Amino acid sequence: MPDKIDSPNLFYLCGPTLAMKIKDLTFKKFISESEIRQKVSELAAQINHDYAGRVPLFLPVLNGSFIFASDLLREISLDCRVSFVKHSSYQGTASTGQLKTLIGLNESIFNHDIILVEDIMDTGLTLSKVAEELRSLGTRSVEIATLIRKAPAREHAVQPKYIGFDIDNEFVLGYGLDYEGLGRNLRDLYQQA
Ligand code: 5GP
Repeated sequence: MPDKIDSPNLFYLCGPTLAMKIKDLTFKKFISESEIRQKVSELAAQINHDYAGRVPLFLPVLNGSFIFASDLLREISLDCRVSFVKHSSYQGTASTGQLKTLIGLNESIFNHDIILVEDIMDTGLTLSKVAEELRSLGTRSVEIATLIRKAPAREHAVQPKYIGFDIDNEFVLGYGLDYEGLGRNLRDLYQQA
């Protein structure tokens, strides 16, 4: 039974495979909303266990992590704080390698246990730079929770403690991730067809 079509941009690519055209690119359904929900619960359970007795500060990295962060945080049963930072290195579908500085951190993070929440890690350069900046501010610990890690066999600039899905080196969107600003509102994850 094909999935319900919930967007005017969705069409069937072949058989029951749902596809989505955004600007010049076609994307096909990759990881479903229910698989994501299950994985997010598992990650939250690990964090609840690992941080028992502590009060971590979650730092979602905007924009892409806003949906992952809001789903993850609602499964966190610890006392915790949340603040948002922004740091982007992407234009279109390929990393520009140009990192901007971290913005949005208005509170003291000295002696805090930080959990950076990221939608997707590619080279890891963005996150390693953010983690480095945070450590220089005297944090007690800095760990990373990423929904997706690309190309797990490749050398990454940083190792996340919490990883939702390991995927091949392909461009994905949906569930907060965009292509040229579009597609963040999709409930499932899509990959380039
Ligand atoms: P990195 O510094 O790890 O190479 O790049 C990480 C950032 O690039 C992510 O925060 C995200 O904004 C963007 N990015 C990497 N891969 C993808 C992808 O497949 N889709 C989208 N929409 N963004 C990506």
